Amino acid sequence: MKGNLHTHTTNSDGDYSVWEVLDIYKNNGYDFLGITDHEVFCEEKYDGEITLIHGIEESSLYVQNDDRRGTYAHFNCFIPKENVKAKVKYYQNVGDLQKNIDELNKMYSLVQFNHPLFSRFLDNEHLALDGYDLIEIYNHKDFVEETGMSNAENLIRTMLNNHKKFWISANDDFHGPYYGTKNDRCFGGFNMVCADNNEESILHAIKNGYFYPTTGPMIKDFRREGNIFKIETTPVKRIVFYSNMRRCKNIFDLNDEKITYGEYELRGNEFYLWVKIIDKDGKLAWSQPVYLE
Ligand SMILES: [Zn+2]
Ligand SMILES: [Zn+2]
Repeated sequence: MKGNLHTHTTNSDGDYSVWEVLDIYKNNGYDFLGITDHEVFCEEKYDGEITLIHGIEESSLYVQNDDRRGTYAHFNCFIPKENVKAKVKYYQNVGDLQKNIDELNKMYSLVQFNHPLFSRFLDNEHLALDGYDLIEIYNHKDFVEETGMSNAENLIRTMLNNHKKFWISANDDFHGPYYGTKNDRCFGGFNMVCADNNEESILHAIKNGYFYPTTGPMIKDFRREGNIFKIETTPVKRIVFYSNMRRCKNIFDLNDEKITYGEYELRGNEFYLWVKIIDKDGKLAWSQPVYLE
C-alpha cells in the first residue's frame, strides 16, 4: 500500500479540506493518506477508494524565544487510547521534551518524530531522546520550502551507530497549494506498507516496521536467508548496504540504471544493517534498519 502519513487541511493551516486532499492523493495512485492537523485530531469519516488514516500533529515548543534554535518539535500521533484533548506542550531542555514524548505515548499507540532537520536539534539531543516509533528521514515540505536538505540520512546514521532503534518514514507534510502535474509540494516522499488496505492493518504494519520510505525507487523484496541479506529493486544505479562495520558494500553501475538485485553476507559484528538504493535521477529509497543485536 502506498501512502503519505503527513498532511494538513483547513482543520489547521492547510489550503484544502479533508475531502479535497483525499481526492488529490486518490487521483495520484495513493492507497492511504494520513491527515495530521496541528493540535486537531482528524474525526472525519470517509469510506472511499483511499484509506483515511486518522492522526494529529502535536507540538512541543521551546519556551525561550531563542532564534538560534529551532523551536518546534512536532510529533504525528495515531491510534488514540482515549478521547483526544490536544494542547501545545512546552520544553526548555531535553528532559522536558522526553516527558512530553512520554505523555504522547500514554495518549497514542503510534508516535512519529517529524522533520528533524527543520526542528534543528543537536545530534546529542537526538541521542538522549527515546520512546517514539518512527522518525521522518524525508519531509518534502522541509526539502522544498525550508532547509533544502534532501534527507536526514546523516542523523539516522549517527543514531544507528549509537544503538538507537526506530523506524524511518518519508512524507510530504503537504499544506497546499496543488499545481496539478507541475506541483512540487506533494508526491515527494511516501511509504510502501505491507498491509491490507484498511486503517487498522496499515497502522499495525507501520508500528511493526513492515514498510519502507522512498522518494521514487521501489524495493520489491528484502529478506534474510541464513547470513545473507537479499534485496530486489526496481532498476537503480546503486545499492548500498550500510552497517556499523568499516566497509559498506556498494554495488553500482554509473553508466546505466540496470541494477535490480544485491546481496550482503553478514561478517558477524554488525549490530544493524541498512540498505539504500539510488535511481538515475538521484531519487532514494531506504530499507528499515535491521537490528541484529
Ligand atoms: Zn510540523
Ligand atoms: Zn506538518
